[in-house]
Amino acid sequence: MQDTELLRSIHSIWINRTTLTFARAPNVREDFRNQLDHFFDMLEQALDTGDSGWLDPLLENWATSLTETDLEGKHSNLLALLREIETISTQTAREMLTSEQALELVCSLIPHFSYCYEKAAFAEMNVRVSHVTTQLEETRQSLERLDRSKSDFIAVAAHELKTPLTLVEGYAAMLKDVSSSRSLTPYESSLLDGISTGTRRLKGIIDDMIDVSLLDNNLLSLNFQPVWINRLLNVIQHEVQPHIQDRKQNLVINRFPGDDLLTFGDPERLLQVIRNVITNAVKYTPDGGTITIDGRQLPGFTEIIVSDTGIGIAAEDQVLIFDKFARLGNSDLHSSSKTKFKGGGPGLGLHIARGIVESHGGAIWVESPGFDEKDCPGSTFHILIPARSEPPDEKLARLLAPLTQAH
Ligand code: ADP
Repeated sequence: MQDTELLRSIHSIWINRTTLTFARAPNVREDFRNQLDHFFDMLEQALDTGDSGWLDPLLENWATSLTETDLEGKHSNLLALLREIETISTQTAREMLTSEQALELVCSLIPHFSYCYEKAAFAEMNVRVSHVTTQLEETRQSLERLDRSKSDFIAVAAHELKTPLTLVEGYAAMLKDVSSSRSLTPYESSLLDGISTGTRRLKGIIDDMIDVSLLDNNLLSLNFQPVWINRLLNVIQHEVQPHIQDRKQNLVINRFPGDDLLTFGDPERLLQVIRNVITNAVKYTPDGGTITIDGRQLPGFTEIIVSDTGIGIAAEDQVLIFDKFARLGNSDLHSSSKTKFKGGGPGLGLHIARGIVESHGGAIWVESPGFDEKDCPGSTFHILIPARSEPPDEKLARLLAPLTQAH
């Protein structure tokens, strides 16, 4: 007997067994039986012509009809199905044919089943890849929506908070004026100071929130003006000195070649960057520690280097800290404060600093041997600012030409 005849002779038993094995529920049995019939026909064609390709459309169809649950599982359901079909074929052949006929049929079927495995694995892999790609795209879109609504919320909340805060600030200032005409008790003065400090801090946080939403929406506009790095550092030194004294720290500002060269940038925004980095250095360095500001001139850039003798930053966090709302798991932070040791903040300072520096065409990064609150390995922040001999805006360049030519 020919192979195809041998195969046909086991057809009805093979179909019944396979259907009962896979489709126990009567309502799906009929449909499954039809599918198996089709598989059987194609297998017969393959056996007859020696071309396993007859099975392709069916295998692809089976792969694409895998359900979501099938695709989420680790194991290949299609391969398991084919393996079971092959086992039932071998068993049925052994039971219904002579040993010789069974051996002949099984040997002829082996290359076709091998082909089916290969084809099914490939088709299933393609379906799984496109399923995962769709899932990834959906996740990306929902994350994008979430990020947008977070950023919208920040913008709205910040603007809504600003109005009443300005009122509180105004009334507090008026109260101070009124009370200056009478002598206040120390307790009354401390209450007034408390209101001023609180509103100042709240204003700082709201301004940061507004900056984050400007950066998120690419709306941060820079006001390019002549800038001298040494002058910016002088301003900052003056600003942070009280906090440095408070914390019994040392602030060392080293002059470096080129720190007095004129460049163009937004001085207020650059001050904000340096202020955020130095305030962090004060905050994350124990009392008595040292903060050093150094720098150097590189081709096309000025590099400002701020190092501290503080608690340091773990390698895995050195990129994360520039993300918004970055609060590191290892930092056991205290109440919100600008300069107290490890005083927690909202985690926006470095994100804003990076946004400003990058808007200038520069870069900011940190280096640290790691996080260690006992040994305090310290951190070093690098701020790279492009050296510009003229502002990017042509009109402003013409206006300021006499100044730039003088240098
Ligand atoms: P925060 O408002 O929390 O200070 P930042 O964006 O300024 O937000 O800083 C993010 C995080 O980076 C901080 O919470 C802190 O864990 C870490 N960090 C920043 N600067 C330093 C530093 N000089 N030393 C150690 N850790 C730092």
